[in-house]
Amino acid sequence: MSFRSTRGGPAVSFATAVEQGLAPDGGLYLPAAPAARATGEALEALLALPFVDRSVALLGRLVGPEVATGELATGELAAVVRRAFDFPLPLVEVAPGTFVLELFHGPTLAFKDFGARFLAGWLCRRGGGGGERPFTVLTATSGDTGAAVAHAFWQRPEARVVVLYPRGRISAHQERQMATLGGNVLCLEVDGSFDDCQALVKACFAEAGLREAWRLTSANSINVARLLAQVPYYFEAVARLPAAARGRPLLLAVPSGNFGNLAAGLLARQLGLPVAAFGAATNANATVPEHLAGGEYRPRPSVATSSSAMDVGAPSNWERIDALFASDPGLRALVRATSVSEAETLATMAAAARSGYLADPHTAVGLAALGALRREGEVGVVLATAHPAKFPAVVRAATGREVALPEALAATLSRPLSARPVANDFAALVATIGGWLAEQERAAPGPAGAAV
Ligand SMILES: *Cc1c(COP(=O)(O)O)cnc(C)c1O
Repeated sequence: MSFRSTRGGPAVSFATAVEQGLAPDGGLYLPAAPAARATGEALEALLALPFVDRSVALLGRLVGPEVATGELATGELAAVVRRAFDFPLPLVEVAPGTFVLELFHGPTLAFKDFGARFLAGWLCRRGGGGGERPFTVLTATSGDTGAAVAHAFWQRPEARVVVLYPRGRISAHQERQMATLGGNVLCLEVDGSFDDCQALVKACFAEAGLREAWRLTSANSINVARLLAQVPYYFEAVARLPAAARGRPLLLAVPSGNFGNLAAGLLARQLGLPVAAFGAATNANATVPEHLAGGEYRPRPSVATSSSAMDVGAPSNWERIDALFASDPGLRALVRATSVSEAETLATMAAAARSGYLADPHTAVGLAALGALRREGEVGVVLATAHPAKFPAVVRAATGREVALPEALAATLSRPLSARPVANDFAALVATIGGWLAEQERAAPGPAGAAV
């Protein structure tokens, strides 16, 4: 499979698309043509496979021809997938005919672990692309993405990770998940806003000298590797349904912010996912539901809600969904959308808790949307994107309950924070990162032991 920018241009290999992140024309990469669609017995055989084997098969269809060209050795993709998807993803029935697929049992308790771990595994295959020097993943975060990226590359000798976050503006849990790792992960607490952090990262990438000296790599959320990694779990949702539910039309609700997750669902559909409709569920940031209801596409500043990872007014992946709609018009008819208010979100958390299920605010937006969008006879599945323990204050306020801390999070509480403060200043940042990379080189030389 080759990949092409949403804005046209030449087809490139998967390796190139991953390496570039953003296409040179500013567009986002998508498969250049839809993959062959599995139907009938072939689809049943696919659904019968265990999750990891099925993921290898599906991702093989998406990046497969690289095997033929030698860019991807036989078995290499399987090794990457096996290591990346090494945690469970249970399907839980929360009410008759209503299920949630829990995608939050990875190391940072949110579904972003799927994309970050697959991307890390791909970039670190063959010792980081054959370079003698480790590469440096540099990223800014407002919370979840940084934690997922830091964990995904942690203890990989091929990589060093630098995460910038705005001081005092991420949650205590989010900070602990990244800033207690140490080793090859440097967390920098910037005296500024998230936008300042992003501007600093951008300034580093703009310097050719730094890009080369540090072997800078972006683990950007628009990277096509992160997108493809989200295709296989859609099939798991279907594969795990009880037989009685499998015979009925399926509505799959996707809590959405930047719309990468829904874009992956549409790719899954092209591969044969048996689904009647997708429910695009947003919080009060209603850019997409308003557009799909017939309005103009009108990106806008975001508004803050309790499902903060979905507070997006100008979704970066909408360009991908638009391109998919244009090339495969049938897809648009499959998408229903709705915006869920803050009051509905909290009421949904309370109602779910009364019937025995603690949902985080993002998953609750999906559950509320499912209720609004579902038609007679449909089975509903919500993609549960984060663990409720990541949002103890909202859960307490909405349900009166305390969430037990999962082990992954509890373990971070006993470890010291190792974040370093840095001024909101380019020269200070470069000096801090440069000094740390030199320390790293002395403490833990790269795979081939070469000096930086
Ligand atoms: C990122 C995120 C989302 C939104 O996913 P998109 O792919 O950006 O639509 C939803 N829930 C949680 C918990 C997230 O971290």
